[in-house]
Amino acid sequence: MPPNSAEARVDLGAIAENTALLARRAGGAEVMGVVKADGYGHGMLPAARAVLAGGATWLGTAFVEEALELRAAGITAPTVAWILPPGAPLGAAVAAGIELGVSAGHVLDDVVRAARAEGRPARVHLKADTGLNRGGVTADDWPALTAAAAAAEASGEIEVTGVFSHFACADEPGHPSIAGQISAFAQALEIAEKAGLRPRVRHFANSAATLTLPETHYDLVRPGIASYGLCPIPGMDVPGLRPAMTMRARLALVKRVPAGSGVSYGHRYTTAAPANLALVPVGYGDGVPRAATNTAEVLVAGRRRTISGTVCMDQFVVDLGDDTAEPGEWAVLFGDPARGEPSAQDWARLLGTIPYEIVTRVGPRVARAYT
Ligand code: PLP
Repeated sequence: MPPNSAEARVDLGAIAENTALLARRAGGAEVMGVVKADGYGHGMLPAARAVLAGGATWLGTAFVEEALELRAAGITAPTVAWILPPGAPLGAAVAAGIELGVSAGHVLDDVVRAARAEGRPARVHLKADTGLNRGGVTADDWPALTAAAAAAEASGEIEVTGVFSHFACADEPGHPSIAGQISAFAQALEIAEKAGLRPRVRHFANSAATLTLPETHYDLVRPGIASYGLCPIPGMDVPGLRPAMTMRARLALVKRVPAGSGVSYGHRYTTAAPANLALVPVGYGDGVPRAATNTAEVLVAGRRRTISGTVCMDQFVVDLGDDTAEPGEWAVLFGDPARGEPSAQDWARLLGTIPYEIVTRVGPRVARAYT
């Protein structure tokens, strides 16, 4: 049971509406709601139900175990898991009808073996590495992989439902790698077709590409971060997108200290004048980055104020100056700038990271409250 001090409020209506907005942007393409990593910190099961309510018809996870959790909760939408390390429960995935992203020839072999053992075909999505150089099969190995997949399909062991790829720099509009990846994917599709494969869904676009590269929508788009209301492209405003998560904590105490008081570990902040200090009982043990020390802003006692001194494991301090606040009042770390709150993007910009990390790292001590 998380302590009753901090909560991440998650607006499921916002997730559904954001997904509906992305579906409209995707034109006729279907939408796969990406719910890996506990729904980017929002809670995987509620997030999955919300994206489906918003019009997504597919779900995407990184790992089979995540997809199995969706099935165990009774969520039956087509689901793809795309990272299959050695030892991944492929048999259970095939038995549960979970579709598998195949990123290497040896993974295809493992999937075929699991399908044989289960006595039913595995549905697979072949992943082409078109320039991210992370998961996926490179252009050199793609003809052999597609030929092997076609042979396994002909013998009834697999069904190639999808061919897909992933962008390296779609969040940097105009980046020179984008055009190269688009043409590499077109070539990969052509080779797959020549091998005799007829995938029902070709998919490429993450949130950034869904929003800015309509030529990459194909049959299905795979937005993650934008469904949670956060635009991945720094500085870009997408009217209608609403952040789903508000991270807040109740002040544990407020106390007066004299001018010149060193605050928190290392005394990395010193009061310039007599001040009221507010203690916010949430820290890096809850996913608040320690790098937020003297850097990120929180909304407390009606104003945005910079964190004063070192972020500790369970708490940090905010100098209210002569303003006052009562224990029990809320401090909002990040939420919706439309309500005057700092955004996860603000935190990301100040801390040199991306909003994905800010919301995904919110830890298990922080209760999720769904609205
Ligand atoms: N597709 C794949 C293969 C991914 O790994 C991810 C997330 O990292 C996504 C789609 C969703 O990306 P985003 O959250 O940028 O929309």
